[in-house]
Amino acid sequence: MRRQYPLLRKHLYAIGIGSNRALSHRLMPLGIIAATLALLDEAPLALLANAPIISSRPIGPSQRTYANTAALVASHLPPLAMLDHLQSIERLFRRRRYRRWGARTLDLDLLLWSGGKVREKRLIVPHPAMRNRDFVLTPLTAIAPRWRDPVTGRTVAQLAARLAKPKPVDRPARAL
Ligand code: ATP
Ligand code: MG
Ligand code: MG
Repeated sequence: MRRQYPLLRKHLYAIGIGSNRALSHRLMPLGIIAATLALLDEAPLALLANAPIISSRPIGPSQRTYANTAALVASHLPPLAMLDHLQSIERLFRRRRYRRWGARTLDLDLLLWSGGKVREKRLIVPHPAMRNRDFVLTPLTAIAPRWRDPVTGRTVAQLAARLAKPKPVDRPARAL
């Protein structure tokens, strides 16, 4: 029987992964991420690469430290079906949408797609906030530095370098 690789490789996705809440005392964020990576390698997905896990300060109301990483996944699923699939994985970890940016067991965001841009009500790709987020760009640079953002034309590595550059200090208009 012929294998399904050409079909599997039809779409390539970069996925941002974050967790800052334990599911139980036995399943902490690092364990949740390890289990998620295993699920990202189950049909109809194939895991091609995953970045080292970093910890980052939370944004928004949650005070807990995040564990973040990124993965490259190939699949025959088109973008909206891929979002459904990622959300079904989030639900496995009992992710509830209490409030935006609150503590969560698992957040899976679709960062980039090999087909370019998506603008749907429930899905915008590239992920609109990825260019401003160090906790997204640092892991993504480790696995896909040359992937070009179709909106800005910059590579992931360039976006990360831009973010890392210190901002110019405001100077008074004239020296006193
Ligand atoms: P942020 O988008 O700022 O990272 P979040 O990940 O916490 O916030 P969620 O609660 O996970 O937000 O998702 C809210 C909605 O965002 C989802 O129901 C989904 O339909 C929508 N969405 C739009 N674009 C994307 C994308 N690129 N990846 C994942 N979800 C997306
Ligand atoms: Mg998110
Ligand atoms: Mg999300």
